[in-house]
Amino acid sequence: MRNESTNQSGKILATSEDFVPTAFNLPGQPPDSGPVDWQIAMKRAIRSSRELREAVGLPPNAPDTPGPDGKLRCEHDFRTFAPLEFVSRIRPGDPDDPLLRQVLPILDEEIEQAGFGSDPVGDLNALAAPGVLHKYEGRALVLTTAACGIHCRYCFRREFPYQETGSRSDDWRPSIDYLESNPDIEEVILSGGDPLTTTDEKLHELLTAIENIRHVQRLRIHSRMPIVIPQRLTDSLVNRLSESRLAVWLVIHTNHPQELSDAVLSRLAAAIDSGIPVLNQAVLLRGVNDNADTLIQLCRRLVNHRIQPYYLHQLDQVRGAAHFEVPVETGLRLLDTLRAALPGYAVPQYVFEEAGAKSKLPISDSSTTVTSQASSDSNVRI
Ligand code: SF4
Repeated sequence: MRNESTNQSGKILATSEDFVPTAFNLPGQPPDSGPVDWQIAMKRAIRSSRELREAVGLPPNAPDTPGPDGKLRCEHDFRTFAPLEFVSRIRPGDPDDPLLRQVLPILDEEIEQAGFGSDPVGDLNALAAPGVLHKYEGRALVLTTAACGIHCRYCFRREFPYQETGSRSDDWRPSIDYLESNPDIEEVILSGGDPLTTTDEKLHELLTAIENIRHVQRLRIHSRMPIVIPQRLTDSLVNRLSESRLAVWLVIHTNHPQELSDAVLSRLAAAIDSGIPVLNQAVLLRGVNDNADTLIQLCRRLVNHRIQPYYLHQLDQVRGAAHFEVPVETGLRLLDTLRAALPGYAVPQYVFEEAGAKSKLPISDSSTTVTSQASSDSNVRI
């Protein structure tokens, strides 16, 4: 069933000449009224592929959509979720738009591919306490929440059983207890889900609890929210983070320069101006950013706005995402081109995550083996 936001968003996007608008009409808002509160933006997000296709000026039914409800099976397993703020940056009428590809379920997701599974990076084996993953020395990751501000179709945690792992956004005490009882942990990473889908009030509570652990020195926040709903980086949140006794690092996730709207860059500038360093992680994705021009533009735009390209990840082999995989040989060639075109600090590290490994592994080491289903050789030595 269509909802109010779908009708409205369809009108807006179909009439836009500029596919990176800084403001757009929202249901119940006068034109160009500026951003709504981030929680309202979450409520108004598009929640089905049918609505999404309509909103970007495509026929509502995919040519291959089965079932009376018009949904693919993969959409039942991992539902569509795309805020209008992100959808407004999609080029109307273009089924190959690189932002649309990241959020629109397609039949390719239902093709089983050997080697692709539910837990590609061994998260479940790294569960050290309810809601805590402890993989690497000195660092522990808190699964702050199961919620995200967008559903990326290639997400390595798309099947993650948050409830079974004891992660609860309404009770972080077991996670805090673990952090307190392990004096070797000097850095806490807030991840999820997306930690910035949690309210400021709850985040402040969590931050205070972590600040009270004397051996913790650094806090890293992994979030795609500043890209998806930039107004989530409220002044009060930025101020609270910048006043922390911890060294706070913000790690965002953007894959394509078209995602970096003026509103996004403006809120990230506010964080940087307040002393919070911002790094970016991208995933190398077929049909999204697997060409040198796009990656160079992305890295340039990031460093021009004082954001450091940190990692370019080889796709984690999660079930349903095989159609996004880029062969590692292609990735290495792209990195060579980036190194020739950009200053060293603007070139991200090309890495992959291997279950059980003690760090992310750089893809440049001839002693490293990466298994790539998309490669001409299924077990590529590089
Ligand atoms: S925002 Fe991150 S955790 Fe959430 S769906 Fe996208 S990739 Fe996964």
